Amino acid sequence: MNIAVIGGGASGLVAAIAAARNGAKVTIYEKMNKAGKKILATGNGRCNYTNMNISISRYHGKNIKLAENVLNSFDLDRTLCFFEDMGITPRSGSLGKVYPNSLQSSSVLDVLRYEIKRLNVEEITDFEVTQLRKIKGKFSIIGMGAIYRADKVILATGGKAGPQFGSDGGGYELAKSFGHKIIEPFPALVQLKLKGRYFKRMAGVRFDGVVKGLNGKNSIREDEGEILFTNYGISGPPVLQISRKIIEELLKGKDVFVYLDMFPQLSKVELYGLLSDKFGRIGYKSIEDGMIGFINKKLIPVVLMEANFNDLGKKCGRLNKKEIYRIINILKEWKFEVTGYNTWQQAQSTAGGVDMSEVNPKTLESAKVKGLYLSGEILDVDGDCGGFNLQWAWSSGYTAGYSSSSVQ
Ligand SMILES: Cc1cc2nc3c(=O)[nH]c(=O)nc-3n(C[C@H](O)[C@H](O)[C@H](O)COP(=O)(O)OP(=O)(O)OC[C@H]3O[C@@H](n4cnc5c(N)ncnc54)[C@H](O)[C@@H]3O)c2cc1C
Repeated sequence: MNIAVIGGGASGLVAAIAAARNGAKVTIYEKMNKAGKKILATGNGRCNYTNMNISISRYHGKNIKLAENVLNSFDLDRTLCFFEDMGITPRSGSLGKVYPNSLQSSSVLDVLRYEIKRLNVEEITDFEVTQLRKIKGKFSIIGMGAIYRADKVILATGGKAGPQFGSDGGGYELAKSFGHKIIEPFPALVQLKLKGRYFKRMAGVRFDGVVKGLNGKNSIREDEGEILFTNYGISGPPVLQISRKIIEELLKGKDVFVYLDMFPQLSKVELYGLLSDKFGRIGYKSIEDGMIGFINKKLIPVVLMEANFNDLGKKCGRLNKKEIYRIINILKEWKFEVTGYNTWQQAQSTAGGVDMSEVNPKTLESAKVKGLYLSGEILDVDGDCGGFNLQWAWSSGYTAGYSSSSVQ
């Protein structure tokens, strides 16, 4: 059996391996000059390729329950084994994140490419598939003035996140040409733009804190970790983590705010104890000088201005309890309006895509066209930050590759 894999990304490479191991003759069609370019950029060049806490609760999408079977069948253990069998020794990091022990994403791509070669999978690069047709039981793969044929097709063209790595949403048109509907995609795992006057001054400051998204009084999602001020708003793993839910609310036209807690380990009362003691010792200093050594210097004037201090030269010893609490309220509940989010170029994942209800949840075969399979980010499944998206790419790729090569 002849199988065409459209898109040589994380999912397509694993799909090709699974199909070839199952005896199929496989060809990968990749529009970039090399397959797997995005893999190199993952995990800041270290490839956080799965997570010890894989569970359907960490995934999102309209019919997300339908993704559970695939995640359970090619699960964490099978994934670790799959990669160990190709030479990747896993290394656990914080929050259950798993990396190759080399901490090099190129290792993951290298072993996948080695296996593709070993299995005689053909790779046609610099080839953008612009049309797919099915005529008399056979697929035509059309692009760049050429036509190839295959018995089965696996569409693994990714979503829209990171178009610089090849995934620009073109695959949606191919899916649509076979009658699939696309749930409107939007960036997930992306930095947030906030309203505020001082971001240029604060850009580059990092702190370990909590970011909480709220729509009116309703909490949307919160997360903890390293947060980074940028010249447009905030970035960092917890910001990416909550971004999907925030953007969902923004797209509904809701007003959304984030609250930053720079001292999550301390209650307001504890923080008051700390600050009043500190100010007591250095009562002769201005509050601007008195805050040095407590928070990043770049933040001091901004925090004090936000706390409505007009006179930053006021002596620490002259601050009353109410005034100290004004500072604490900024440090613990700094409120910003969310005005937007970064572009697809900066996004790490895509929310939306082909509805899971339009594929067989066991095999990932299209419910519209027999012999067409879909895998990876093109489907309406997006995971949390931390290895969940690559796990979906591997699990769905393996499932599509194996099932397409098993069924006659
Ligand atoms: C910067 C960055 C860092 C990330 N870090 C992590 C991480 O550490 N852990 C994690 O779990 N996830 C991470 N992700 C997400 C993860 O990389 C993706 O979810 C995953 O790669 C999706 O796999 P895919 O194969 O479905 O799509 P992709 O990897 O996007 O691959 C799709 C492929 O199809 C090709 N293609 C598209 N259209 C066509 C066409 N018409 N014809 C031919 N070829 C085509 C593209 O060139 C591309 O090679 C990161 C993403 C980015 C952008």
